[in-house]
Amino acid sequence: MGKALIIGCGGVAQVTIHKCCQNSDVFSEIMIASRTKSKCDEIKAFLEAKNVKTKIHTAQVNADSVDELVALIKQFSPKIVINLALPYQDLTIMDACLETKVHYLDTANYEPPDTAKFEYKWQWEYRERFEKAGITAILGCGFDPGVTGIFSAYAMKHYFDEIYELDILDANAGDHGYPFATNFNPEINIREVTANGRYWQDGDWVETKPMEIKRVYDFPQIGEKDMYLLYHEELESLAKNIKGIKRIRFFMTFGQSYLTHLKCLENVGMTSIVPIEFDGKQIVPLQFLKAVLPDPATLGPRTKGKTNIGCIFQGVKDGKPLTYYIYNVCDHEECYREVQSQAISYTTGVPAMIGAMLVMNGAWQKSGVFNVEQLDPDPFMDALNKWGLPWVEDFSPVLVP
Ligand code: NDP
Repeated sequence: MGKALIIGCGGVAQVTIHKCCQNSDVFSEIMIASRTKSKCDEIKAFLEAKNVKTKIHTAQVNADSVDELVALIKQFSPKIVINLALPYQDLTIMDACLETKVHYLDTANYEPPDTAKFEYKWQWEYRERFEKAGITAILGCGFDPGVTGIFSAYAMKHYFDEIYELDILDANAGDHGYPFATNFNPEINIREVTANGRYWQDGDWVETKPMEIKRVYDFPQIGEKDMYLLYHEELESLAKNIKGIKRIRFFMTFGQSYLTHLKCLENVGMTSIVPIEFDGKQIVPLQFLKAVLPDPATLGPRTKGKTNIGCIFQGVKDGKPLTYYIYNVCDHEECYREVQSQAISYTTGVPAMIGAMLVMNGAWQKSGVFNVEQLDPDPFMDALNKWGLPWVEDFSPVLVP
C-alpha cells in the first residue's frame, strides 16, 4: 500500500490512472499533477463517480521547474513519481526525485527540446547519484520501450544461451477514421518517424534514410502489413544489455495514406522543430501542427482494430539454433470500453502501472538507474497477463527477411 505521484494527464497517463485505481491494494492514494489541472480534475471526478477505492488528489505543476516539483513531492510524500509528461521533463523530474529521495519511472527517454537525438546518455549519467541516494529510476517502462525489453530479458533468462538477432515489430491496424492523426503525442511521434532510420549490426550502427527499408509481414490476428525500419530508443540499451547480440532492428507499420500526408507536411516545412517568426512571435512549426491535429486522447471512441507488438529472437540453446516470437495483441475498442482510451495509450499506460507496482512492492527496488531489461522479468510477465496485456509465444515464426 502506498502513494504514487503521476505527472502528466494526457493519453498515456489517463490509462495508468485507471489501472492504479483498479489496483488499489498497491496504489492506495495517487496524486495527478499536470500543466492543465482541469484535465486532472475531470478524470478524478469520473473515477470517483465509479467509487474506486484509491484516494485521488490533483494539482497543477510545471514539470520544467525542479522547485515546483520538489515542493509538490514534499507536500504529498509519495513512494514513487510516475513521469507521464513529455520526454522534455525527464531530467527536471529526476532532479526533484533525487532531492526528495523518491523513486522514479518514465516511458520515454529525455529529449532536449531543440534536437531529436533519442539517446539515454543524459539519464544514464544519473546512475551514481541514484545509487548514492538509495533510490530506483526505471527508464522506458511503456510498451516499446518497455515490454519489448521485458520480453528480451525473459527470452535471455528462460530460453536462450545466446541471442544473435532481434527484430522488434510494432503493428497498428487501428482505424480512427481521420485522414491524418497520430496515436500519441504528435510532436514526439512525428519527430520519431521523420528521423533517419538506424539499426545495430555487428557492433555498430547502420544509418538509413527515413522509411528507406520496407518489409511486408503477416501479423498474427492482424494480417499482412507494410512495415518500415525506424530507429527506436530501446535499441541503444538492448544493444548493450543483450550480450553477444549481432543485429537488432525495429519495424513499425504505416499505411500509405499516413505516409503521403506526412511527406506533404514535411515538404512544406510543417514538421520542422526549428522556430520561425510568425506575426511577431517565435513558433515551432511542429508544435503548431500538434495544435491543429486531433488530440490523441480523443481518438479512443473512434478507433477500431488491433495492435500487435512483439519481438522475434534468433539464437542458440544447448548448441541448437532456436527462433522465438513473443507478442501481445490489443484491441482498440476493448481498451476503450475498459478505460476510455485507445490501444496505443493502453499498451503504454498499463506497463507504467506494473513497473511502478514492482518498485512499490520491492520486487524492482534497487539503487540506481535501470532500463527494464536489466531487472527480473518474471513478476512483470505475470502482471502483464493479469492486468490486460496477455502475451503469446510462437517457436516457429516466419522470419523477417
Ligand atoms: P500527451 O501529450 O497526451 O500528454 C502529455 C501530458 O503531459 C499532458 O497532460 C501535458 O499537459 C503534460 N505536460 C506537458 N508538459 C508539461 C509540463 N511542463 N509540466 C506539467 N505537465 C506537462 O502525451 P502521451 O500521453 O501520448 O505521452 C506521454 C509520454 O509517453 C510521452 O513521453 C511519450 O513519448 C510516451 N510514450 C511512450 C510509449 C512507449 O511505448 N514507451 C508509447 C507512447 C507514448 P497538457 O494537458 O497541459 O498538454
